[in-house]
Amino acid sequence: MADAEGDAEVGGIVGEFLELKAETDADFLVMQVGDFYEFFGEDARRVADLLDLKVSEKSSHGSSYPMAGVPVDKLTPHLKGLVERGYRVAVADQHETDDGHARELTRVVTPGTLLEATDAEARYLAAVARTAPDRYGLALADVTTGRFLVTDATGEDAAEATDRAFTELYRFDPVEVLPGPAVREDDAVRDRLAERTDATVTHHRAEAFAPGRATHETKAQFGAETLASVGLADGDANGSDDPRIRAAGALLSYVEETGTGVLSSMTRLRTYAGDDHVELDATTQRNLELTETMQGDREGSLFDVLDHTETSAGERLFREWLQRPRQDLPTLRERGDAVAAFADSALARETIRDLLGGAYDLERLASKAAHGSADARDLLRVRETLALVPEVADAVASDPTLAASPLADVLDRPDREAAQRLREELDAIVEDPPGTVTEGGLFRRGHDDDLDELLDRHREVESWLDALPDREKRETGITHLQVDRNKTDGYYIQVGNSETDEVPDRYDRLKSLKNSERYTTDELDEREREIMRLEERRGQLEYELFADLRERVADRAALLRSAGRALATVDALAGLAVHAVDNDWVRPELREHGDLRIEAGRHPVVEQTTEFVPNDLRLGGTASPPDGERAGGHATDDRRFLVVTGPNMSGKSTYMRQAALITLLAQIGSFVPADAAEVGVVDGIYTRVGALDELAQGRSTFMVEMQELSNILHSASEDSLVILDEVGRGTATYDGISIAWAATEYLANRIEARTLFATHYHELTSLADRLDGVRNVHVAVDGEPPSSGETGSRSAGESDESVTFLRTVEDGPTDRSYGVHVADLAGVPDPVVERSRDVLARLREDEAIDVRGSAAESDGDAGETKQVVFDLGSGQFETGESDGSDGGDGDGLTPEQERVLSAVEDATINDLTPVEALTRIQEWQSELED
Ligand code: ADP
Ligand code: MG
Repeated sequence: MADAEGDAEVGGIVGEFLELKAETDADFLVMQVGDFYEFFGEDARRVADLLDLKVSEKSSHGSSYPMAGVPVDKLTPHLKGLVERGYRVAVADQHETDDGHARELTRVVTPGTLLEATDAEARYLAAVARTAPDRYGLALADVTTGRFLVTDATGEDAAEATDRAFTELYRFDPVEVLPGPAVREDDAVRDRLAERTDATVTHHRAEAFAPGRATHETKAQFGAETLASVGLADGDANGSDDPRIRAAGALLSYVEETGTGVLSSMTRLRTYAGDDHVELDATTQRNLELTETMQGDREGSLFDVLDHTETSAGERLFREWLQRPRQDLPTLRERGDAVAAFADSALARETIRDLLGGAYDLERLASKAAHGSADARDLLRVRETLALVPEVADAVASDPTLAASPLADVLDRPDREAAQRLREELDAIVEDPPGTVTEGGLFRRGHDDDLDELLDRHREVESWLDALPDREKRETGITHLQVDRNKTDGYYIQVGNSETDEVPDRYDRLKSLKNSERYTTDELDEREREIMRLEERRGQLEYELFADLRERVADRAALLRSAGRALATVDALAGLAVHAVDNDWVRPELREHGDLRIEAGRHPVVEQTTEFVPNDLRLGGTASPPDGERAGGHATDDRRFLVVTGPNMSGKSTYMRQAALITLLAQIGSFVPADAAEVGVVDGIYTRVGALDELAQGRSTFMVEMQELSNILHSASEDSLVILDEVGRGTATYDGISIAWAATEYLANRIEARTLFATHYHELTSLADRLDGVRNVHVAVDGEPPSSGETGSRSAGESDESVTFLRTVEDGPTDRSYGVHVADLAGVPDPVVERSRDVLARLREDEAIDVRGSAAESDGDAGETKQVVFDLGSGQFETGESDGSDGGDGDGLTPEQERVLSAVEDATINDLTPVEALTRIQEWQSELED
């Protein structure tokens, strides 16, 4: 800066600084001036203190400005110094323009967005949203690695939810926290935030937490499909009410607004269940058809089959249980004890369920009261439902089995005395109140002295009015005279035309009708005015009294929620018992760590409609052999990874889902469909089905499948249950094998998750020989596949070719694939089917295929996987790069026919809807015609 123009320029720069400073709410602003970054004024003094900088005074127009500067290349350490002390620093960079230079705010560096952090530890930025007193959403981002996590925290009441939210928050020890508006407005929570963390608490704009904005931000960052695939509901046009999305969106917009450019590093969105819950992502929920079927119907879902609740609150709670299974044994044992007690006491159970039938939804009523939309009938419903708690408790107490169960405790949780007091207050409301709350008629006498006084006076005036016709008839001698009231005329005396001559002077005519005249008198007028006044006063007073009462109900929201929760819990538990008894389910034995052992297990939904063939399962890695089996060492009894093979339609998918569902049911506290079951609790259930069924959604299916697989490989732990159903199908056969192979090795040896893997790649059965813990099981089949001769003509009839499957799962691999047979049944043209058999035969002949070699080469990088190409002409396998046209000349098949053939083989019939199947066959046919 040349000295000659120093004065003027310093003045200009300070002006610029002040302008920019007004634009930001950061603690400091640092502005580039040539080769330096400068702090000015008060900022300069404070920063100089904090960072040991020298302050120089520059004067302009007679006043002087403190300045503290650092060379451009020394800015970062100084920013770090400030940010690590918890400050937020806005940076204004200088850029050249046609007429000199300009400066503008380019970024705000904050503790949570400091990219330059060098310490190895993660630096989390957290956003905390709250959509209800007992419902929090947390988003956590480590901008240095791009890690992005969301979770939620709920509880029986606000206090519990808040505890959980803070527990989660502190697990990550964030350096900066963005509390949402609802969090900031709650003094207690805000204080706790300030107390318990040394994180910088930044007040990000409230609108950023609004559903619309937040949903938009989150979708824009991660894509709409990602939201769904990790289980975040993206809501309706107004955005999502999911507190996790609120937090995520606010966090993203904050990061974006800091201008630090770290948004681009955040590409992977992970949800995780808090402490005690089982991770269950949306894909898994969908695959397991928990609340709706794959077709999107409610009917036929697990929830639909299992739900025997009597109340909407019970139904809601039960649905929540299904979607959020738990890991903590005490909770699960408590629920199990209660279900068992209900299962044993049919009579008391039915009595209680009858009582529950009269319950209203206290949680909803509480929020109606809080919103001021509850009417007198709603308050009566509150009273009636509160009264049910002791009634149900009495019913529990009078049954010895139930009395000894945790149910007594459950019903004891809501504060009895408080409930009793509230009920007494609500006794003030009349038995059959009107639907409006502004016109009186709501309260019994004795509730309020002023109201009683009003009512007394009202009654006096009314009886005066009642006596009026007789009095007037007597005084005037008119025989046909009536007193009435309507909206326009108010009170009036009506006299028939024949007697109007007799009307005395004190009568004022109001109006003439066809056959009569209407009059009023001074006296009547006065009473009318009084009645009106009284009625208005009454409406007002009753409304005030009502609003007051309603507010007192709203103030007891915690009590209502806890009473509602108690009834809903009893309802959900009784419903589970009903189902267990009706379907011969057993109580599973739960273990903190351990295997999954199922004896004669069934699929809870399929068993409803089908004569189900029960199956056993033993899955896990414990060393000790089960009773009655030959003693073995570690290796023989370690069966944490089962490769499930068997023909199409033999029950593989059902068998695996059944294992997942039995685990899930055990972890909501339910009985399970089996003769006996032992369940070592899992921390997560992950299921993936080969991606073909997603074609309809127009996503790149193989990509999705691989993303999902990678999500499992990232998220699953040794305590997880993983179900892979034909994963790897979305690609050319030998690619699929390589990927499936590598994933198996990783899951079985690295993660050691309990895994069931159904595959049509028989090559994978040899994994059992190579990997510890990997075993083969297959679904036994009764009947032979049809010989190729019989399939030549469709007129042979399907019955000839049908295969009866035993659906009993036995140890050992199967050696057949029935894909071609099923293709034939589906009407694929005969030449294609015959040729398929031919190809299949050759594949079977050639045992020399060394998949192991190619999988080993692909270790760590699927992109380098060598394809194994089957040369149809020579019947030989070669390892090399395929260009897709190799082998198209064998036996006179065109490349189109080749393609169709492998598509037919790869089609997973069970994952297709009939319409999809027809569409696909049509595509094949037209491909062949071309
Ligand atoms: P896969 O996955 O082997 O092709 P699925 O599991 O889809 O076979 O089952 C095919 C059909 O058989 C389904 O309709 C299913 O309901 C029925 N099924 C499966 N397992 C059983 C069983 N153990 N008992 C009775 N029916 C079964
Ligand atoms: Mg299947």
